[in-house]
Amino acid sequence: MVLRTPEGRPYRFDPGALCLELLVTGGPRSLTRHDVLDGPAGLVRWAGESRLAPGLEPLLTVAEADVRTAHAVRDAMLRITADRARGHRFDRPADATDFAVLNAVAAEPPLVARMGADGAREWAPGATGAQLLSTVARDAVDLFTGPYADRIRECSTSNCYLLFVDTSRPGRRRWCAMERCGNLHKVRAHRARQSAV
Ligand SMILES: [Zn+2]
Repeated sequence: MVLRTPEGRPYRFDPGALCLELLVTGGPRSLTRHDVLDGPAGLVRWAGESRLAPGLEPLLTVAEADVRTAHAVRDAMLRITADRARGHRFDRPADATDFAVLNAVAAEPPLVARMGADGAREWAPGATGAQLLSTVARDAVDLFTGPYADRIRECSTSNCYLLFVDTSRPGRRRWCAMERCGNLHKVRAHRARQSAV
């Protein structure tokens, strides 16, 4: 996904999982970004920018009700993800309401992939917002219960709240994006060394 710095400079942010891509659209916390899921068109646009693209956006029909579901499942995923990132996983009871929201959305039928006439993968026609959100919720269930469940992190910059899953082999990812927070850190560390001399 392409995000923008406060100065408007674009940078690539790969949160490592489809479900985490939905978290950058807004949320219940006082996040800096305004909510881009402000109507059906917003959800369709998000699908076109997500890792489900290409080819999904023109097939997709989204209703107002899907937007309300999108907000509910996103906010539930955001709380669960932030909880995991801060290591609360085993030392406090799970939020049953958030799990119930996620499970209900995941229980709906997901998007259907098929083989196109040219033998390549494509999305089956008639894709709906409900199918889209089910696909995202199923991805979240897989993430929160899968091999990378303990690799969910928040960017190490103190005022950056981007959440990601570290799927790298060494498992030492600290930043949302190297070209954003990683470089800021390098510059600061360099300045600190210079001023110490
Ligand atoms: Zn960051």
